[in-house]
Amino acid sequence: MSTNHNIAQTSTQPVMAGQGRVVILGAGESGVGAAKLAQLKGFEVFVSDFGQISDKYKAALDQLGVPYESGLHTEALILNASEVIKSPGIPATAPIIKKLKEKDISVVSEIEFAGRYTNAKMICITGSNGKSTTSLLTYHILKNAGLNVGLAGNIGHSFAAQVATENFDYYVLEISSFMLDDMFDFKADIAVLLNITPDHLDRYDYKLENYAASKMRIIQNQTASDVFIYCLDDAESIKALAHTKPLATSYPFSIVTTVEQGACLQEENIHILIEPNNELTMSISELALQGKHNIYNSMASGIVAKVLELRNESIRESMGNFKNIEHRLEHVAKISGIDFINDSKATNVNSTWYALESMTSDVVLIMGGVDKGNDYNMLKDLVKSKVKAIVCLGKDNKRIHDAFEDDVEVIVNTFSAEEAAQIAFHLAKRGEAVLLSPACASFDLFKSYEDRGNQFKAAVREL
Ligand code: ADP
Repeated sequence: MSTNHNIAQTSTQPVMAGQGRVVILGAGESGVGAAKLAQLKGFEVFVSDFGQISDKYKAALDQLGVPYESGLHTEALILNASEVIKSPGIPATAPIIKKLKEKDISVVSEIEFAGRYTNAKMICITGSNGKSTTSLLTYHILKNAGLNVGLAGNIGHSFAAQVATENFDYYVLEISSFMLDDMFDFKADIAVLLNITPDHLDRYDYKLENYAASKMRIIQNQTASDVFIYCLDDAESIKALAHTKPLATSYPFSIVTTVEQGACLQEENIHILIEPNNELTMSISELALQGKHNIYNSMASGIVAKVLELRNESIRESMGNFKNIEHRLEHVAKISGIDFINDSKATNVNSTWYALESMTSDVVLIMGGVDKGNDYNMLKDLVKSKVKAIVCLGKDNKRIHDAFEDDVEVIVNTFSAEEAAQIAFHLAKRGEAVLLSPACASFDLFKSYEDRGNQFKAAVREL
């Protein structure tokens, strides 16, 4: 445990006395970025992390001269805040947050705070699945079209730190429901809601409607001059929209029905129509991202691009040459005619559904980990038709056995990526695939989904 309570200031900071004390809870990427911006704006800043702050972020705070504590929350240094910026990882039920609420102290997310200090146009992307892919694709399209654009939120470098040091005209922000829960006055100029499927229900009293309400905050404060993009095929989004009518101009996307404005399929083409003279057609075979779920993601990004009136040629080029990110249906290797695919980022049932749906051969499925209240029923049909064996990779695999024992002949437990890869290799035959698509979080056996994916890839390369 280390503490550092000295309040240091350098001569370059505009010290605006009386602006108050900003306390930041959680010293990760967003917290340290928020500290930087708050300090630049003249606030007295204090950072408190109940866990251990990493050396990297300690060094960053030391460099800023921002005081912090690591491994504890000292109430006397927190409950005197004028405002608190909280890491999305801290639940509203944490004792310190309850105490702040009792004292009526404003608790906001890094996005809410930093949004006050930029006039850039905000393109905000949320959903249960596909956020990172769609955010990265949208950023890629905008950047290649020559826009001065930043990428932040749940991805890459802190939004607040970028607001402090950059001067972007646009931001593509990946926004999680945890961030949305602490957003109040922030407004998305363009809001994208990809889908709503059960995830993180442990943070929402196990009620899907609470989680859906959180996602719908993506359109709060929007007016008729703003834009809202959503998936017409997603039943939960449509249900939620029946309660919360968007004021923004809305563009739905669908792969099963046609739309007047928005995006739909015309034979083998994506067709995007904003206005009669602002439309785009692109063959789905030319899309860099394949699979049904990625048609949705490409449609959402394509609508953003057309709303911003980017040139079709440039959009087509970017949607065609985008390189997908690691751990999302990533092809690792073909060994003895068996394809090994790393979809470690599939941390809920819905994303595993899409991964299985996109498989064209029989599959040995590696799944398991920390179950966040999963309902495996939706996987049953696909498991029955495509999965020949399940290799569990998690500390407690009982729920997976219970869910699928009647559907697949072989279900085995493994406790390391190496063991899982070896057993899956043994079970699969030439022409089949080994798919790591866990439907669960990774924290029981791994540091993160990236760690799980990397260990899997290393194990496959050792086979
Ligand atoms: P997120 O950032 O929302 O977690 P990612 O873009 O990282 O989403 O994708 C995570 C996983 O979810 C992918 O590996 C893929 O299997 C699945 N996925 C991606 N896009 C979608 C979508 N639009 N609908 C359903 N599943 C998707």
